[in-house]
Amino acid sequence: MKTLLVEKTASSGFAMGRTFVVNRSNLNPDTYRIEAKDTDAEIAKYQKAVQEATAQLEALAKTSDIFAAHLEMVQDPALYAGVADKIISELQNVQLAVENTTAEFAAIFDSMDDEYMKERSADIRDIRNRLMRSLKGITQDALEEIHDKVILVAEDLTPSDTSKINLDFVLGFATELGGVTSHVSIIARNLELPALVGVKGLMEEVKNDDFLILDAANGKVILQPDEETIQKYKVLEEDYRKRKEELEALSSLPATTIDGRSVKVYANVGNLEDVKKAADRGIEGIGLFRSEFLYMKNTHFPTEEEQFEVYKEAAILCPKELIIRTLDIGGDKSLPYYTFEREDNPFLGWRAIRISLELENVFKAQLRAILRASAFGKVKIMYPMIISLEELLKANSILSTCKNELTAENIPFDSNIKVGIMIETPASVLCIENFAKYVDFFSIGTNDLTQYVLAVDRGNKKIAKLYDSFHPAVVQSIQRIIEAGHKEGIEVGMCGEFAGDENAAILLLGLGLDEFSMSAGATANIKNIIRNTSYEKAKECAEKAVAAFTTQEVKDILSSFKK
Ligand code: PEP
Ligand code: MG
Repeated sequence: MKTLLVEKTASSGFAMGRTFVVNRSNLNPDTYRIEAKDTDAEIAKYQKAVQEATAQLEALAKTSDIFAAHLEMVQDPALYAGVADKIISELQNVQLAVENTTAEFAAIFDSMDDEYMKERSADIRDIRNRLMRSLKGITQDALEEIHDKVILVAEDLTPSDTSKINLDFVLGFATELGGVTSHVSIIARNLELPALVGVKGLMEEVKNDDFLILDAANGKVILQPDEETIQKYKVLEEDYRKRKEELEALSSLPATTIDGRSVKVYANVGNLEDVKKAADRGIEGIGLFRSEFLYMKNTHFPTEEEQFEVYKEAAILCPKELIIRTLDIGGDKSLPYYTFEREDNPFLGWRAIRISLELENVFKAQLRAILRASAFGKVKIMYPMIISLEELLKANSILSTCKNELTAENIPFDSNIKVGIMIETPASVLCIENFAKYVDFFSIGTNDLTQYVLAVDRGNKKIAKLYDSFHPAVVQSIQRIIEAGHKEGIEVGMCGEFAGDENAAILLLGLGLDEFSMSAGATANIKNIIRNTSYEKAKECAEKAVAAFTTQEVKDILSSFKK
């Protein structure tokens, strides 16, 4: 038995089970050349790999059309001809021949103007990986084929990885890299699955199919636990589940302090399933619909119609309020069907609103879909990562065009739809008074705001200790944003993870935050704190915290708070 420890837990809870270790290091092809006498044997290896891939894909094709398309592609005679030619004429070994042939196919698809054909390059890359696994004798399934309950162990998990997994089979996550606001942490919290990130030594210590306990309530990964420990954890898990259930009962009560200040406590969601879960819990609104997951879990840019159906259903499910954030792709979020140029600093690169303003047709399809959904509930639009008024005005002018088009087409929408921006860059904080005059609401994105204000990568384990939203610079930014918003009479919310941090609740309440939006699982706890607090006392406490000089001082002031 061995225990690995982490300081901060990404998503609380317990899991016990076998591991699935995500192994991506060894899919590179061998590069040696063969001799002419070996060509038949290499071609036979290719045929065997195609046979194996075909058998796998035949089973998978029953579950998804994507795999049916892969099945057709893997059997394509042109693919065979390309590989055989490289083996025979260029004496490439079979792995190298597959690598080069699939790369040529992908490049052809990539260069096509037709969006549908462009998207086929992602399919060919998947086929390449499948063939390579077979040629290398790697028997472990790909992420998308996990079909047993497992604890997912990885060096890191990108949003694109998690969008491939059938999450019904995931008991919990443990990663060697990543911080508590990296996307795997956010996804785990949304799903209410236990997760530990930044676990040092994880990849060295844990093998595929090991049995382990993930204690994400106390920041421990316990490898090969003995029977006594297993029994102890069964009890802990049950207690945790009961406590959670008791708290859950509070979910639908109003978030009103003992002296009568009411705030909104909403959920962050990534798809319709999350919206349904939030509605079932009695959560009245959605403060952040991360629309990019709709794009990531797809084989093409979702059409206006496809998006409209999702947004409309979400609007009907939560009539109080639904804030849809326009596409926030880039950074660590990529699309399987779109090639992003490699960037040295992707988080400072082509991301979020910058992409929407450039891919205007993609943006228009989304805005039209949101506008159309606004006829079915109280829908609001929110732009991510704004740094300038010009961006906001440009986005709004595209929005106006969409409204005019819909009016001309006689399609109903809410003509007074509210438009807000995420405040998650230092530029937007410094110019906050200007922005307040042009928008209907602010939502503070502390995940990015913290990384940009402190110049600390939100996913970098090495500097995870420096990533702290209680830093006075972040706390003072939050205060400025709320003050500027209120001066112009607009509502200020927060949809960064800080809104669901129980240690921050008094501070945010006292600073006057109007809306707290977080993963659904955290709402009951935050409501419970708010319902047992005096707003006047929270204000006094927040005033002191804002005046603090150090992060520790801020934390000490908050932890000594007495209601
Ligand atoms: C944020 O930055 O706080 C936020 C909510 O957006 P995301 O985590 O999706 O970048
Ligand atoms: Mg953000």
